[in-house]
Amino acid sequence: MNPLRADHISPLDMFKIGIGPSSSHTVGPMVAALEFRRQTLENFKGNFSGDQTTEDIYRFRVELFGSLSATGQGHATDAAICAGLSGMHPKSTSTKEIWAAMPSLQASPHVKFGNQTIFFQPDTDIIWQGWFMDDEPLPHPNTIRFRLYQGAAIVFEQVILSVGGGFVETVDPHTGQRRKAEDKDPNITLPYPYNSASEFIEQCESNKLESWQIVIANEDARGLKEEVLRSKLQEILEAMESSIESGLHTDGILPGGLNVRRRAKTLYQQLQSGKSPAWAGNDLRPSVYAMAVNEENAAGGRVVTAPTNGSSGIIPAVWRTLRESESLSPEVLQNGLITASVVGALVKTHASISGAEVGCQGEVGTSCAMAAAGATAMLGGNANQIEQAAEIGIEHHLGMTCDPIKGLVQVPCIERNAMGAVKALNAVALSLASDGTHLISLDKALSVMKQTGLDMNQKYKETATGGLALG
Ligand code: SF4
Repeated sequence: MNPLRADHISPLDMFKIGIGPSSSHTVGPMVAALEFRRQTLENFKGNFSGDQTTEDIYRFRVELFGSLSATGQGHATDAAICAGLSGMHPKSTSTKEIWAAMPSLQASPHVKFGNQTIFFQPDTDIIWQGWFMDDEPLPHPNTIRFRLYQGAAIVFEQVILSVGGGFVETVDPHTGQRRKAEDKDPNITLPYPYNSASEFIEQCESNKLESWQIVIANEDARGLKEEVLRSKLQEILEAMESSIESGLHTDGILPGGLNVRRRAKTLYQQLQSGKSPAWAGNDLRPSVYAMAVNEENAAGGRVVTAPTNGSSGIIPAVWRTLRESESLSPEVLQNGLITASVVGALVKTHASISGAEVGCQGEVGTSCAMAAAGATAMLGGNANQIEQAAEIGIEHHLGMTCDPIKGLVQVPCIERNAMGAVKALNAVALSLASDGTHLISLDKALSVMKQTGLDMNQKYKETATGGLALG
């Protein structure tokens, strides 16, 4: 396996339309289950007849390890597994159908493959395990083992990791190596290769290209034409807008038992009727927009990973605020997403975007940095200013822990997105007011983020066993 490079990660890998409440604990497991279903079909097609004898009966079992086991119930990991095994996709299946999959299997425990079936009762066939797999440490804090049994015998098995942001990796059973879906053909020569922020700046400057032009040319070399990329990015922008609108017009109590009341709608009404405090003025907009998206996420609605679900409110909020204030065109907003994705790719490659691996600095911190970079690009900043804005976004989230109460992506997550959006806009203003010269590089900040995540006590990494999660 080739080591992952930042220039291997497409904007379309980074921004994925999916469902709440969590990219690592809901979207990733659903994608993993879908992948296991695909592999099972490929390997055993035709074997699952409806007239099997008891000894021959096929059955799925799914073991959830680590953080998935610790907080998976609050994140609807079990429901996501049921939906994935049933063949549903987080982007293309309606949220109503997705959430109906688990009750349906509980009532009738057979996964359907056309008119054939495999037994799967979620109440007994999803097993919440601990932090070791067969007495060995886990390959990742979010590890899933899927097994297909024929009678008592295991006939097929896959270990799949949900590594954050809806990304999954499959572990090779023979070598233990991890295979990423986003692995690209290493034989394709990119016109503008980069694997660090400094290399990216160098490509922009030496070729006199804008940040997004570098990515568009690289994607084109891989066969993704600019018009296709732009049309998919437009779809992503529209999904982001929908999540804001839905959040701004829905009230009530969020699911999960914490009794958290949605606030975005009321705050928005106050904002529109001029009832917000005068000193806050329009500055409340990014906070309200971010909260609207994260309330949708917490309710299991449709959102876009940016780079994760927990941090899905920041980029939509910043984009909408700037669209309204600066009348930015769809093309400029797409350029911003492309630039933001470069920062997300650098973090994913050199640190992590997973709260279970490095805490919330990897989710809200990364999103803030992506938003700051993309917004700086949209407002005409040069490569150094873009890099500076991203660095500010990361630097001022270093060490931030992930300790959601009851494992639900609600407290502190919803407000944290509001704060992240405001910080991102501040980072843009600071970087555009300077010439891009600064002391700490983004590359350095990412290596500090990674080390801080490694040093962070496990209880602060999405386990609901420390910090605010203790109440
Ligand atoms: S605290 Fe941060 S990293 Fe943890 S679930 Fe919430 S948003 Fe995600």
